[in-house]
Amino acid sequence: MDLRTTPEEQKFRDDLAAWLASEVPAYGPPPSTHDWDARRAYDTGWQRKLFEAGYAGINWPKEYGGLDASGVEQLIYFEEIAKANAPYIGVNFVGMLHGGPTIMVEGTEAQKAAHIPRIISGEEVWCQGFSEPVAGSDLANLQTRAERDGDHYVVNGHKIWTSFAHVADYCEMLVRTDPDSSKHGGISWLIMPMDLDGIDIRPLPTLEGEGEFSEVFLEDVRIPVSNLVGKENDGWRVTNVTLRFERGTAFASDMIQLQAFVAKMVETAKKITSDGATAWDDKALRREIGHLSGELESLWAMVKLSVCEAKETGVPGVGASAVKLYYTDIFQRTTELAVRLLGRAGISRSDVMDLPAQHFFARHFNAISTAIAAGTSQIQKNIIGERILGQVKEPKPNPA
Ligand SMILES: Cc1cc2nc3c(=O)[nH]c(=O)nc-3n(C[C@H](O)[C@H](O)[C@H](O)COP(=O)(O)OP(=O)(O)OC[C@H]3O[C@@H](n4cnc5c(N)ncnc54)[C@H](O)[C@@H]3O)c2cc1C
Repeated sequence: MDLRTTPEEQKFRDDLAAWLASEVPAYGPPPSTHDWDARRAYDTGWQRKLFEAGYAGINWPKEYGGLDASGVEQLIYFEEIAKANAPYIGVNFVGMLHGGPTIMVEGTEAQKAAHIPRIISGEEVWCQGFSEPVAGSDLANLQTRAERDGDHYVVNGHKIWTSFAHVADYCEMLVRTDPDSSKHGGISWLIMPMDLDGIDIRPLPTLEGEGEFSEVFLEDVRIPVSNLVGKENDGWRVTNVTLRFERGTAFASDMIQLQAFVAKMVETAKKITSDGATAWDDKALRREIGHLSGELESLWAMVKLSVCEAKETGVPGVGASAVKLYYTDIFQRTTELAVRLLGRAGISRSDVMDLPAQHFFARHFNAISTAIAAGTSQIQKNIIGERILGQVKEPKPNPA
């Protein structure tokens, strides 16, 4: 793919930047993190605005309400959204960034027609029911059972860490459809409507007192067989499509936002004084920040590759794991430096003087969780070692 910008692509950038410059301030700040109904309304309201302005579903075909943008336009989109500090994608994360993309690649025509336009317009919110108490890193160990009863699957099991479950309309869900098959062989990928009988959602508060996650208990939940994505028992392959989107392109705008975060650190370093000098006068700090900026540029080059791959083949390549690993590593180092920069104020949960302590601390917490969500860094290292570098596979634990 040619990454040089054509006059049409430059016009796309200018129009989008102008639209964001007027719409972002007018839309206002997000509501309290604890009011989930208000958060759903805020996040989906912004999605609706993007849709009405013709800026939603940038990578999806026009027939499903998308923009069918070129790869370069997609990259421009991520950059401009981040630069304008537009509302975070929030509760639309799963539908827009990996559930919807999976349906686009693996779903039936009926599934695409039913869900993609409604995801793009902000009418449908999705969550992800992959993890279970004994199936996180070892995801293929999932135990939730789906037994065929006529034209329905009857599902029983227990999901955990399901972000946005309590505000979602649908769940991308993994179930075991053949318990006698090999570990990876008997899995299926289902679309589960969240209003079915037998679904019990119990919120799990985080350290910050937030109810983003839930446990989801499933008792005799009847899901139509027409909600199967891909073939029965071929769900592990479909799952890998989902995970490549989640790891390769889903955090693209967040990565650009990290560049803005570094700029904020520089601004802050110029304000902090000690013995008549500012923190920014310290050469070691400047060197560290310089390195981070350079690394963020390299990371963005890796995202460009993932976006190009997705544009050309439909799915980001296996290098998605390297993008996820590198992103979380830089994210953690950057926010750790930000907290260190503030000295004692860095451990405050609210702003001290006019230093952005609250923001820096919250981002650092977020960086810690990012190294776990969507597959831990250790698991990404295993994937890179085994599937990209072709190294010997990790020995399996002794079954005895
Ligand atoms: C913010 C956030 C949001 C999330 N949202 C969702 C969601 O919406 N839906 C969903 O399904 N899940 C979600 N998760 C769950 C997430 O996918 C799991 O937490 C993750 O896959 C790790 O699984 P686990 O918690 O069971 O840890 P474990 O698998 O128990 O791992 C514990 C530790 O052991 C390490 N480890 C395990 N196996 C290996 C190995 N083979 N080699 C080396 N190290 C290993 C891990 O890296 C980790 O450090 C979310 C998690 C977070 C933090």
